[in-house]
Amino acid sequence: MSSLHQESQGLLAELARHPDRPMAFMEVCGTHTMAAARCGLHALLPDHIRLVSGPGCPVCVTPVGFIDHALALAALPDVTIVTFGDLLRVPGSRRSDDKAPPSLQHARATGADVRIVYSSSDALKIASDEPQRQIVFLGVGFETTVPTIAATAKRAQAGAIPNFSILGAHKTIPEAMLVLATMGELGLNGFLCPGHVSAIIGPEAYEPLASEHGIPCAIAGFEPVEMLRGIASLHNQVLTESPAVDNNYPAVVRPGGNAKARQVMTDVFEPCDGAWRGVGVIPHSGLQFRDEFREYDAAHRFDVELPPPVEPAGCRCGDVLRGLIQPQECELFGKACRPESPHGACMVSSEGSCAARFHFAQGDW
Ligand code: SF4
Repeated sequence: MSSLHQESQGLLAELARHPDRPMAFMEVCGTHTMAAARCGLHALLPDHIRLVSGPGCPVCVTPVGFIDHALALAALPDVTIVTFGDLLRVPGSRRSDDKAPPSLQHARATGADVRIVYSSSDALKIASDEPQRQIVFLGVGFETTVPTIAATAKRAQAGAIPNFSILGAHKTIPEAMLVLATMGELGLNGFLCPGHVSAIIGPEAYEPLASEHGIPCAIAGFEPVEMLRGIASLHNQVLTESPAVDNNYPAVVRPGGNAKARQVMTDVFEPCDGAWRGVGVIPHSGLQFRDEFREYDAAHRFDVELPPPVEPAGCRCGDVLRGLIQPQECELFGKACRPESPHGACMVSSEGSCAARFHFAQGDW
């Protein structure tokens, strides 16, 4: 038996103690959601410990209005939409005369110029190579992604590439955690904090959750034993009534985080209210371009009319993202909504809870 296996067995035994103390912990990060589903973590945990998914998949929390906006831009002459692949299949608002929910994939099939890239730098290169077209990059992501996108905007400015712009829906995680923690409807006992985001913002970003709101926080990596260490830390914090921020991922997450990455981010963006699918508007959880970079804001550059967004009928992504229901409790799960015919964003994204449940989960979570 390997030492990691032994450690996992020990942690599970520790978690099995005190079955009279039910606890619910939220894994905030979409990568944790997928990793937990892949290794069957929910089935290993004792029945009295519940791990619920949170709003940590950037594609999932991007509201339907953003997709509508991207579709409106894609319909403009001379505009090329450049995006990460996950956004391609997220449905936009379905109007009464639509046969199928519109998506960027549908737009591409009917003639719009929509291209997939793997980085914002790729998008900038397209802009540089094709100066006759307006290149709009769809910027979606949290603190892990935003610094590179901000750096790309700086490079566009420095290189005087005027046909490049970004339609942004960037968000910051701690503000959303605070809202979820104080909603009360979940009865959350702690947060399994995201590993990658924490590497940028540092463990200190969660201090108010622990010190002011009494919510245990544990930063964890993505291997099964690393997630178990984090959950065991949360369990112990609850039992000993000593909420804190426990960094269980010190090889990657350092005190203070990555100040350089944060500086690039704040050079280009400033906080604003952010709209989260299913959660609503969270004060100071979004990022908007500073005035000096406003010319790279596609929302500012292109004037398009956007009717009010319409959420997909019957889709309960909002409840899934707030941890109120498990994906299989949505009536459309596995029937009308499947990875090949998604109704909502949570079934599209590679980090979405519904997709994770569909691909990996056996039995009850
Ligand atoms: Fe939305 Fe599909 Fe998930 Fe239901 S199963 S919440 S329709 S993404």
